[in-house]
Amino acid sequence: MEQAMNIQPATQAFIDRAHKMWINGQWVDARSGQSMTLRNPATAEILCEVPKGNKEDVDLAVQAARRAFDDSAWSRMRPRERQNLLWRLADLMERDADQLAELECINNGKSVTMARVVDVQLCIDFMRYMAGWATKIQGETVEVSMPLMPQAQFHSFIRREAVGVVGAIVAWNFPLLLACWKLGPALATGCTVVLKPADETPLTALRLAELVAEAGYPEGVFNVVTGSGAEAGAALSSHPDVDKLTFTGSTEVGKLIGKAAMDSMTRITLELGGKSPTIVLDDADPAAAAAGAAGAIFFNHGQVCCAGSRLYVHKKHFDNVVGDIASIANKMKLGSGLDPATDMGPLISEKQQRRVTGYIEQGRSTGLEIACGGSSEGPGYFVKPTVMVSTDHKNPLVQEEIFGPVLVAMPFSDVDEVIRMANDSCYGLAASIWTNNLSAAHRMIPRIRAGSVWINCHSVLDPAVPFGGHKLSGFGREMGAAAISYYTEMKSVVMSV
Ligand code: NAP
Ligand code: MG
Repeated sequence: MEQAMNIQPATQAFIDRAHKMWINGQWVDARSGQSMTLRNPATAEILCEVPKGNKEDVDLAVQAARRAFDDSAWSRMRPRERQNLLWRLADLMERDADQLAELECINNGKSVTMARVVDVQLCIDFMRYMAGWATKIQGETVEVSMPLMPQAQFHSFIRREAVGVVGAIVAWNFPLLLACWKLGPALATGCTVVLKPADETPLTALRLAELVAEAGYPEGVFNVVTGSGAEAGAALSSHPDVDKLTFTGSTEVGKLIGKAAMDSMTRITLELGGKSPTIVLDDADPAAAAAGAAGAIFFNHGQVCCAGSRLYVHKKHFDNVVGDIASIANKMKLGSGLDPATDMGPLISEKQQRRVTGYIEQGRSTGLEIACGGSSEGPGYFVKPTVMVSTDHKNPLVQEEIFGPVLVAMPFSDVDEVIRMANDSCYGLAASIWTNNLSAAHRMIPRIRAGSVWINCHSVLDPAVPFGGHKLSGFGREMGAAAISYYTEMKSVVMSV
C-alpha cells in the first residue's frame, strides 16, 4: 500500500531523536539501558526506539512525584496558579496541535485529520475545562448533633484534598487523549503523576512531557516512564508510594491492577472494555441509523472502548440497515492516516490484526454470515471493515470485545427482547438508541445497564459529561465534576470552639 509521508520536518525530527524518559524534570535513559522498538502500523516499518523502563525507573519516577507532592512549590501553589498553568499547557498543545496529530497518526495509524479534530482538540478543550475546576474545588460545612457535652459548641467542615501521587496507565487507542483524561484532573486538584503509556504508542506522551515542562510545572509533577505493562506497568500498579491508580485498557489487565491496588488500599479508577449495543427501533429513519451505526463501529477502526460493536435492528429494517452499512463499508478506502483519501487506517499492531482476524475466522466457522469485509491486507496491519450477522446471542463474537472494525448484527421483534439482549453482556460501558419516538427513548434509558446512553448519536464525549462503565467495564468516571471527586480525598474536621 502506497504511503504519503508528508509530515512537518519538526515532527520527523522528534520521531528521529534519541528518545529518553521524563523523570524529575530531566530526560533520562532506562537504568537497564534497554530499549523497545516502535513500528509504523501503516507500513510495519521500524519507526524508532524508546527506553524500556522497568521497576527501577518506576521507583525513581514515583520518588520524584512523591517529593513534588510532599515538599515542593507545587503543594503550596494556589488554585488560581494551577488554573493558569493548565490553561498555558492547553495553549501550548493548541500551538503544536498539528504536530501532536501527526505523531498520533504515525505512531497509532489513525487519520491525521481525525487526530487533529478529535483527539488533540478534545485534549485542548479538556485541559481548559479542567483549568476551570482548579478554582472550584469546594468542601462543605456540617452542623454537629453530638448528644453529649451540651455546653460545647462545634464547628465541622469537610475539606477536599488532592489524593497524592497518581499512577496512570493507558492504552494505545487514543494515546494522548487517555493521558490527558488522567493528567487534567490530577493537575487541577494538585496531584502529581507518573504516566506509563502503552508500549506501542509512547510518542505523544513524551512530547506532552516537553510541553508540561515548557508550561512551567515544577520538576517531578509529571513523569513519563516508557516500558512494558508486564514490567513498568506492574511495578507502578503495586508501588506502595502511589496513592491512586487510574487505568484505561482491557478488563483482564484492569483486574490485575485492581488486585494489586487492593494490597495497599490504593485508590483506583478503571476504564475498561466494552461491547456496546447500537439499537435501531422500528420508528427510526433506517438510512440515518445505518450511517450512525457505521460510524459507531468503524470510527478509529473499531478500536474504541465504547464502539457500537453489537447492532440490534428491528426486523422491519434489518435487511435495509445491514445492507446500507455493508455498502458504506465496501466503499471505505484503507490506507495511511496521512493520506486525506483514506477512510480507515491500520490496526495498531500485528498482534491486534491477528486477534481481529482470528475472531472473524471464528465467526465464519461458527456459522455467522459475512455481509461484507472479512479479510486483512498488508504490508501494514489492515483489516477490512466487516459486518457479520448472528442469530446466536451466546456466540463469542456477540459476547467478547474484538476491538477492531467488526460489527455483529442481530434482528429483534420487540423492545423487551432488545433490552434483554442489550443487557446480556458482561460489559456495560455504553449504548445508543436510534428512534424518533421520544417517549420510547425515555422509557428505555433507565432499563439499559450502561454508563452512557446516546440517543440518535454514538460516542459523543464531552469534557463536562462523565464517562465510565457498569459491570466489567470498570468503575469510577472520567471527565466532568465526577473526575475531580476521584482525584481528591475527603478530610472531616471537627473543632470544639
Ligand atoms: P492492555 O494489555 O490492557 O494494555 C493497556 C495498558 O496496560 C498498556 O499501557 C499496557 O502496557 C498496560 N499493561 C499491560 N499489562 C499490564 C500489567 N500486568 N500491569 C500493569 N499494566 C499493564 O491492552 P492491550 O493488550 O494493549 O489490548 C488488548 C485488548 O484490550 C484489546 O484487544 C481490547 O479488547 C482491549 N482494550 C480496551 C481498551 C479500552 O479502551 N477499553 C483499550 C485498549 C485495549 P503495554 O502496552 O506496555 O503492555
Ligand atoms: Mg501494549
